[in-house]
Amino acid sequence: MSATSLHLFNSLTRKLEAFHPVHAGEARVYSCGPTVYNYPHIGNMRAYVFADLLGRTLSFKGYRLTHVINITDVGHLTDDADEGEDKMEKMAAERAQSIWDIAKHYTQAYWADVKALNIRQPAEWSVATDYIDEMLEFAISIAEKHCYELDSGLYFDVSTVKDYGRLARAVTEEGEGRIDTVEGKRNAADFAIWRKTPPGEKRQMEWDSPWGKGAPGWHLECSVMSGKLLGFPFDIHTGGIDHREIHHPNEIAQNQAFCGCGSLSEAGNSGARIWMHNNFLVERSGKMSKSAGEFLRLQLLIDKGYHPLAYRMMCLQAHYRSELEFSWEGLEAALTRLKRLVMAVERLRERLDEIPAEPAGGWTLEWAHGEVGGALLPFLARFDEAMADDLNSPIALTVLEELLSIKKMDPAHKYQLLAVMDAVLGLGLTTLCRADLRLRPGSAAITEAQIEDALVRRKQARAEKDFATSDALRDELAAKGVEVMDGDPLGWEWKLG
Ligand code: AMP
Ligand code: ZN
Repeated sequence: MSATSLHLFNSLTRKLEAFHPVHAGEARVYSCGPTVYNYPHIGNMRAYVFADLLGRTLSFKGYRLTHVINITDVGHLTDDADEGEDKMEKMAAERAQSIWDIAKHYTQAYWADVKALNIRQPAEWSVATDYIDEMLEFAISIAEKHCYELDSGLYFDVSTVKDYGRLARAVTEEGEGRIDTVEGKRNAADFAIWRKTPPGEKRQMEWDSPWGKGAPGWHLECSVMSGKLLGFPFDIHTGGIDHREIHHPNEIAQNQAFCGCGSLSEAGNSGARIWMHNNFLVERSGKMSKSAGEFLRLQLLIDKGYHPLAYRMMCLQAHYRSELEFSWEGLEAALTRLKRLVMAVERLRERLDEIPAEPAGGWTLEWAHGEVGGALLPFLARFDEAMADDLNSPIALTVLEELLSIKKMDPAHKYQLLAVMDAVLGLGLTTLCRADLRLRPGSAAITEAQIEDALVRRKQARAEKDFATSDALRDELAAKGVEVMDGDPLGWEWKLG
């Protein structure tokens, strides 16, 4: 079996491209992180499940991964196109709290979701306000050639770089420009890299600069942190598909200015070689929002009794470039699929005398290739083929399911192969057991111990053919929202509705 070369869809060229790392054997990835003014919704978390899947695939393929995710605690305006207020300032004013406290609270909440979704820790969480000096240095170095000053700030002149907007060309070609309301801008798409504090005002977060007191622009932050921590050009820059239209074209323009680079036809002139974007998670009613309707946070799913990894499963069932519609039925189905996998692994574990330990270099393709021989190799090859094809997790999942369903294979090798696949998918299959997947909804009026106790008594009544008592116990449980599931194929005896 030979490994399939990794191909990824580059939004910059709108093509699948073979991955050739900038530094041999390494992969350096930057992902735009959350703006910590509120809880992330599960759509936001799809972006990080995707970035994690990418990172895990790169590790599986043997690359030494350096992943950076930033935390935006300043500079992201209520409108991506430089309009409106700073999201952090706005929330702080509404709550009468300090921005620092707000940032701390929502960063912690984001990290809790990261952990619950089995998203691996990146090498670095870079916090925007830790890089103000570097941002000023960067801005000063490009100011003379590429920027101009207005009363409201220092603006980047997009006509000073070649191919501005290439990444967003679908939009530009259709002529859907942005509404420009800042007076004095030379081009509608020009954007602030430094926003001055208006005279007579005091912002909670402001710093001195050659252009007066103010705060950095959001786009500047990502250019600076990615360049500083990964070095230009680095391999892959990720974000949600909305970033393809404004945020990333602006980052690219700054990177070109900073590097003194020419046209974007040169791989890497944009700062990163490959720009990847996940599509949106949507609700039936349209785009997911933090303000309209039910705010879909991961905690809401948990409160309703869904294990968070059911949401990860839901994400993996769709290709990252496809739009994914959220529904509670869909989540239920994803949970059932996860339960089936966990049950199959539990059974496999029972057949093992000893659980195979993770190899020193991790569960990689190369290790698996050397260790797991014969009849199991085609499964590894097909799994590799799926992931190497622009992270086709829906296909990879079916290969994993097939692997678990085949009989008469050496259980230790089967387990090792499963562990390798799960190191990529991150569903926690080597550690989860069925009991972990049973979450009690926050609204439940009965504890697990009470349910188990009632079920033991019911079993005893049935053994004694006392069906009246058995039925009464069943009805009692039903009244408390517990459905008894006799003969469930997955071996679950009850479920909370
Ligand atoms: P933000 O905190 O708004 O900067 O967003 C964090 C990440 O979530 C960014 O990469 C966005 O592009 C991404 N994102 C926002 N909404 C969605 C959505 N509904 N589905 C998937 N990704 C999203
Ligand atoms: Zn960014």
